[in-house]
Order: sequence, then structure tokens, then C-alpha cells
Amino acid sequence: MLEKFQKQIKIFFFVLFLGVIFLVALEISGKEKFLQSQKAEIFFLDVGQGDAILIQEGRTQILIDGGDGEDILDCLGEVMPFGDRNLEVIINTHSDDDHLGGLIKVMENYEVGEMVHTGISCDKEICKMRDRIIERRDIKVLIARLGQEIKFGEDIDLKVIYPFMDLEGKEFKDANDTSVVIRGIVGDSSYLLTGDISSDVENELIFGNLDLDVDVLKVAHHGSKNSTAIAFLQAASPEKAIISVGENSYGHPTEEILNRLSNMNIEILRTDEMSMLEF
Ligand SMILES: [Zn+2]
Repeated sequence: MLEKFQKQIKIFFFVLFLGVIFLVALEISGKEKFLQSQKAEIFFLDVGQGDAILIQEGRTQILIDGGDGEDILDCLGEVMPFGDRNLEVIINTHSDDDHLGGLIKVMENYEVGEMVHTGISCDKEICKMRDRIIERRDIKVLIARLGQEIKFGEDIDLKVIYPFMDLEGKEFKDANDTSVVIRGIVGDSSYLLTGDISSDVENELIFGNLDLDVDVLKVAHHGSKNSTAIAFLQAASPEKAIISVGENSYGHPTEEILNRLSNMNIEILRTDEMSMLEF
């Protein structure tokens, strides 16, 4: 009788042991799956009128512009992993409020590894704020120009294709046409991120003989009629066009550009209509 009881206890513990092994194995394989699913993604964030593009793979982030206010902080809170308070790189295409304003908030609230911008002469208050934070928080600065590459792992590879030269300290009446332009690969797709350039710079890019062919085009200057020329669309030949826009008094995006994109069979995706766009 006692022997039978001892045998039953042994069987009970053996089954319990197998159960524990099974659960541990499940836990490990689940975690592995979780790690593997950390694919590179690109988000066109809805920050109202302005641009904000986040590229993320796991706990690595590159943010290109930040809109003009605090909206960017809510967007990052939503998209970034819990507890991650660090952005590896931020890129400011140019110093207009609807691009730089939110990046100031980001620099105040997150650790930032490096800031990429053109460094053109700027005596606006927003530029002074930027420079003070860069100094106070000891943020590394890279002056953007053609040929630079920002690469993380296999899935994120961004190339600066404009400005052609180092513009640091140079004076310009209008910063739009000094915007940092990036052709990037994120995961399986290619992207052209154009800041607020006009057709003048689009033409420079075409004649510069650069590889402009992409899957997705971030339409320049929120759909202004002075950008996104037919020749540029032919060179980029995107399947999709992203328009980063919110309520504004400039009439962005213009009918002319919306019609041009539709006529060329390019799918239009707008942050004001679809909120955050995720690829
Ligand atoms: Zn803008």
C-alpha cells in the first residue's frame, strides 16, 4: 500500500517536472519569436501641420523632423518601446517651426545621441534654443551633405543626397531649399524624404544624376504647388506618395499636386486623413 502511494507521488512529481520543462521551453521560444519580430518600421507621424518621420527597429530610433509643438511627444510615447528614452539620431531638414519646433521638445525630454542638420546661419529664436540645448546636453552634431550614410543593421540605410555641399554658416533668404534630402532603405522598401524643397532643388537632384527611384515619396513642402514637378515624379516613380499635413492657411496640399499624383496613378496617403501612417 505504502509502496503504491510512493510510486504515485513519484509519477506526480515526474509529470510536474515535465510540465515545468514544457513551460520554460514555451517561454524561451516565445521570447525568440518576439525578438525576431522586431522589424524595421517607418512611421509618418500625425503632428498636425509639419513633418515628423520616425524610423525604428527594436530600441533604435531615427527621427526626421518633429512638427512644431508637443504632439511629437505623444506620438513617440505611443510608438517607442516602454522605457526607451533614447533616440540614436535626430535629423532636422531645415529650421522652420513646423520641422524644428517639435525636435526641441524631443531634445528636452529624451536622450539624443546625434543631431544631423545643415547648420546654415540662423538668428531666429528657435535656432538659438536648439543651439543652447545641443550645448547643455552635449549632443553630437553632424553637418549634413551629399554622400553621408546613416546605417543601423541590415534594415536601415539612409543616404543624404542634398545639400550637395557643406552649408554650415552660410546665409540663405529661404531655408526650404536648403532642406536635407534623404534616400533611404527601410526593410524592403525605398523612400525619398524631401523636407520642404521646391522644384528648383528637385531639378538639381535630377541633373545631379542621383538614384531617385523609390517605392514611397514623402511629398515636399506639404503638397505646395511649387514642389513635386512632373519630371521629379517621373524620376522618383513612386507607388505611394505621403503628404504630411494638418490644418493650415497656406492651402496645402494644393489641388494641382493632388491631381498630378492621381493622374500619374500614385496612391496618395495623408497624415491629416489617416493619422499615423506605418510601414
Ligand atoms: Zn514645412
